[in-house]
Amino acid sequence: MARGTVVIEVDRCKGCELCTTLCPQDILVMGHDRFNARGYRPVELDDPNGKCTGCALCALICPDVVLTVYRYDPKRAQVVD
Ligand code: SF4
Ligand code: SF4
Repeated sequence: MARGTVVIEVDRCKGCELCTTLCPQDILVMGHDRFNARGYRPVELDDPNGKCTGCALCALICPDVVLTVYRYDPKRAQVVD
């Protein structure tokens, strides 16, 4: 299965939580102890066990283009996205 990771443009996030409710792996969480430049608590990726599949649902639902998803397919041994 392809694996993935997410790069977060922290200062674009408005903390709406849409992506956290949609992620099938439940690895996007709202930050509790920091604020971004706009004064919002930004989303964070909490994925110590590499559960992100790179499905990109989070990026599709985000209204502020905060999230960029990268996918890696171990079988093909190259970046596929
Ligand atoms: S790419 Fe998919 S699995 Fe990874 S954080 Fe986004 S919604 Fe979750
Ligand atoms: S959907 Fe976008 S703006 Fe909303 S919390 Fe997630 S990253 Fe932030």
